[in-house]
Amino acid sequence: MDKETFKKYGYEFIDWVADYLMEVEKYPVKSQVKPGEIKGKIPPEPPFREESMEEIFGDFKEIILSGITHWQHPCWYGYFPANNSYPSILGELLSAGLGVQCMSWETSPAATELEEAVLQWLRQMLGLPPGMVGVIQDTASTATLCALLTAREVARDFKINVEGFQGLKSPLTVYASEEAHSSIEKGVKIAGYGKENLRYISADEKFALIPSLLEKAITKDKGRGFQPACAVASLGTTSSAGIDPLESMAEICRRHGMWLHVDAAYGGSAAILEEKRDMLRGIEGVDSFVFNPHKWLLTNFDCSAYFVKDPKLLIRTMEMSPEYLKTASDAQVNNYRDWGIQLGRRFRALKLWFVLRSYGVEGLQEMIREHFRLAGLFLEWVEGEDIFELMAPVNFSLVCFRLNDGKSSPEELEGMNRELLEEINATGRVFLTHTSLKGKYTLRMSIGQRTTGEKHLRQAWGLIKEKARKVLEGR
Ligand SMILES: *Cc1c(COP(=O)(O)O)cnc(C)c1O
Repeated sequence: MDKETFKKYGYEFIDWVADYLMEVEKYPVKSQVKPGEIKGKIPPEPPFREESMEEIFGDFKEIILSGITHWQHPCWYGYFPANNSYPSILGELLSAGLGVQCMSWETSPAATELEEAVLQWLRQMLGLPPGMVGVIQDTASTATLCALLTAREVARDFKINVEGFQGLKSPLTVYASEEAHSSIEKGVKIAGYGKENLRYISADEKFALIPSLLEKAITKDKGRGFQPACAVASLGTTSSAGIDPLESMAEICRRHGMWLHVDAAYGGSAAILEEKRDMLRGIEGVDSFVFNPHKWLLTNFDCSAYFVKDPKLLIRTMEMSPEYLKTASDAQVNNYRDWGIQLGRRFRALKLWFVLRSYGVEGLQEMIREHFRLAGLFLEWVEGEDIFELMAPVNFSLVCFRLNDGKSSPEELEGMNRELLEEINATGRVFLTHTSLKGKYTLRMSIGQRTTGEKHLRQAWGLIKEKARKVLEGR
């Protein structure tokens, strides 16, 4: 491709993306294709001769778009949001254009120093303690794995990195709420603790970990010769956005000499609102904290912010210094390659910088406040209808509810709600997902798309009620 063609399509693609984001409502929110349908349209052999961008772009529109689930649709209520924004897209474009690999300070000083600076901005925005420093990871899963690895090394004086886990007499244990995200268990497995040494602690009726049970489990393990190494507090669980009691957990971890990691992947963004910072009480006692600007803070996937109290411990866990990576400035600078798992790193701070500057703290606060308002509205609607039941407190902008006619068995209720979700999503007009809360099948209305407005929410509610009546009539 020559420069002129690059420019031609570059301008055209920006136009296309701008129109796409304006018109995204014309697509069904969730892709309607069947498994194998897209692959069936891709030639099994690679092209031997060059193809024109016109053909490639044509196929993008013809083939790929039908297999896209539109996360940027204003009627996206599934999982959690992964919202993007114009400034973030532009930042990604420049990052792709620069094509730099930011493993060390010397491989692009600006990438390292901008990352340091914007993470300090984020730290202030959330009200995290002044001593904490940050690094961008691809995902919260990776950040949590880093925390578990560091906790492991700290618990054993950095010997497991050398000797491995073989033949350890007192196995290390990890603690998290039964509502914790699956990435905790995955990290526990990868970090070598073993799933059997992860203790799930029961949550109360608000889906928050019960601290007295945490204390009990730790004491019991100690008595049986285990070594408690780490606890994970969730601020905004995935199923119901429950909030673990950070202050009590911090006190327990301090007393037992354990690492405390916070998973605030979704909920953390809400801390940019001062009125939502109650959940951070006890944060001084936390060793590491992760939240995802790629969820609720208008920054394209992927961008996960990982903060640690003492970076020396993280670096000591991760550091590798082969001769070919050594640089003259190593003693004076941050080499972010030593702050995580992979060596190569994208220039992700750029899009975050663009977002934070374009919106300002105020602009981001306004968006999140509006999502809170919409969730409050939806909550009122659910509570105002006899046939619906609220399933969890609304701590953020996630509303958990289900259809309940008051006269069906638990099995029938599950069947009705499965049917309701299928009916709703089959329209293609909205997309919701489900979970299970205390064994009850629950619908999740997760509000957090940049463009979701009250108009969209009212339409969704109308549709949900209509389908609920249909389900009830069919019984
Ligand atoms: C989304 C989510 C995760 C996983 O996030 P990734 O960045 O995709 O790894 C972890 N924890 C919680 C609470 C989440 O909501």
